[in-house]
Amino acid sequence: MRVVIKVGTSTLTHSTGRLNIRRAETLCKVLSDIKNAGHEVVLVSSGAIGMGVGKLKLQSRPQDMPGKQAAAAVGQCELMYVYDKLFSEYNHTAAQILLTGEDMRDEKRHGNFANTMLRLLEWGAIPVINENDTVATDEIAVGDNDTLSALVAASVKADLLVLLSDIDGLYTADPRTHADAALIPEVAELTPAILAAAGGRGSALGTGGMATKLTAASLCMEAGVDMIIMNGSRPAALYDVLAGEAVGTRFIGRK
Ligand code: GLU
Repeated sequence: MRVVIKVGTSTLTHSTGRLNIRRAETLCKVLSDIKNAGHEVVLVSSGAIGMGVGKLKLQSRPQDMPGKQAAAAVGQCELMYVYDKLFSEYNHTAAQILLTGEDMRDEKRHGNFANTMLRLLEWGAIPVINENDTVATDEIAVGDNDTLSALVAASVKADLLVLLSDIDGLYTADPRTHADAALIPEVAELTPAILAAAGGRGSALGTGGMATKLTAASLCMEAGVDMIIMNGSRPAALYDVLAGEAVGTRFIGRK
């Protein structure tokens, strides 16, 4: 299987913005093992801004554009250092790809991206993708990595996109405020009721929330790619996903 895995800032870092070392180590170990089992792995990783905040010892995530861009420049460096180190421990090779929305829309640039991706996969590398935050102002940005990962999954014709989040999946209501909210295991169509269930924003350090995840689901379903939202706190659950077990919420791609 060709699998794209997206990991969010809240999964990768503590609330301080500092790296969650145990989580990052487990994630890279599981992804390496999945690769050893013969699957192709593409990682879309957030965390540049969050890790920049931690490394620069800023009190909070900057709100202005130059602040976010500067924090991302510091954090992206740290992020790739961590992936390079951890994947190397398991004999795998990480490759950094930084993209903007413009790169995905422009035919020529998109073609360059697709060609590079295919060659990296052929060579057995693990592409690690993030938005190019230091140049991606609002007009040219994708804006969030849920959507970016769906564009990537569609582009490389992945079999599956997995969004690792700080929530178990899509619920009938916000489980943080509704005790009776129930997990929805499978979504074959984005009905108004499903879209209504997704309101609200995510964590203090990340960008996404359920709304961007449903945008990603819509892009994937349209492109015929299955997508799963699951909790990233236990990366080993990815083994269950690849074994075909029901984990989190699965959105069924149109076949
Ligand atoms: N590109 C951003 C970062 O690395 C994250 C965007 C997102 O979390 O969706 O910090």
